[in-house]
Amino acid sequence: MKEKVNYCLNCKMKPCSQKGCPLNNNIPEFIKAVKEEKYKEAYTILSETTVLPGVCGKICPHTKQCQGSCVRGIKGEAVSIGDIENYVFQKAIEEGYSLKDVVKRDENSELKNKKVAIVGGGPAGLTCAAFLAKDGVQVTIYEKYSYLGGLLVHGIPEFRLPKEIIKETIARILDLGISVEYNKALGQNLELEELEKNYDAIFLSIGANKSAKMGVTGEDLKGVYGGNELLEYKHHPNYEGKIVSVIGGGNVAMDCSRTIKRLRSKTSKCYL
Ligand SMILES: Cc1cc2nc3c(=O)[nH]c(=O)nc-3n(C[C@H](O)[C@H](O)[C@H](O)COP(=O)(O)OP(=O)(O)OC[C@H]3O[C@@H](n4cnc5c(N)ncnc54)[C@H](O)[C@@H]3O)c2cc1C
Ligand code: SF4
Repeated sequence: MKEKVNYCLNCKMKPCSQKGCPLNNNIPEFIKAVKEEKYKEAYTILSETTVLPGVCGKICPHTKQCQGSCVRGIKGEAVSIGDIENYVFQKAIEEGYSLKDVVKRDENSELKNKKVAIVGGGPAGLTCAAFLAKDGVQVTIYEKYSYLGGLLVHGIPEFRLPKEIIKETIARILDLGISVEYNKALGQNLELEELEKNYDAIFLSIGANKSAKMGVTGEDLKGVYGGNELLEYKHHPNYEGKIVSVIGGGNVAMDCSRTIKRLRSKTSKCYL
């Protein structure tokens, strides 16, 4: 890790943060703290803008975002920002740093004691909940499953995003004082009207969990599946000895290919 952090130039202009990172994580500063082995400080700096450093450290498209804007990348390899971010979260787990200890709370926030309902406990809902809780808002998440995390749990496979990271991430977020109502599905056993009566605001973060159709002939044939149906709902056929074609070349296609291969297909070919 020393070599990775020392490779960063701690640029004053911060292109990695300001151009590359959608959250504007203060990348040079948190890397500087890691250089100085001040891991709690690094976690504190990250927590100003993100409550998912372990997750983002693993699965953000770094080469397109922060690392894609790193000045080191102009002539050679970019700084391994994702690995360093993930390292900071590993340190937080090992040393037991909690978000509660490191986030700055705004005691005078005008949002204090407002009540907000968040419907859907995936990364969007969890992030919204955490940032509102920091401002003293009373937050309740309504989640249709008996667990939080959304696609981080039921979409992205373990071999790319370990469940341990998700568990530790969620525990730190809930520790900010957030309530959760599990097994509550909007439109089934939860209605907007009911929430409107009891909350100052409602944040809908139910994701986009149906696979988009391509509009091509044959896509409704037996044996043709969408990525979400395979990964979230686990509607897997028996792949043993079968050759499977995966159409697409993004994260979902790659995760489907690797999952299917592990479920004993003969080959899993990806068509980009
Ligand atoms: C296979 C795969 C791989 C991916 N890989 C990457 C990657 O490498 N990098 C990356 O940045 N992104 C990746 N993504 C995308 C990323 O997972 C999503 O952008 C992200 O999860 C969206 O977050 P969300 O909170 O909006 O939705 P979701 O994660 O879908 O969460 C929605 C939540 O709402 C709940 N919910 C749904 N309906 C209701 C209801 N009616 N009532 C109550 N609760 C409800 C769900 O159970 C879930 O908990 C990937 C996605 C998939 C499918
Ligand atoms: S642009 Fe690259 S070298 Fe400069 S601060 Fe960011 S990560 Fe470090």
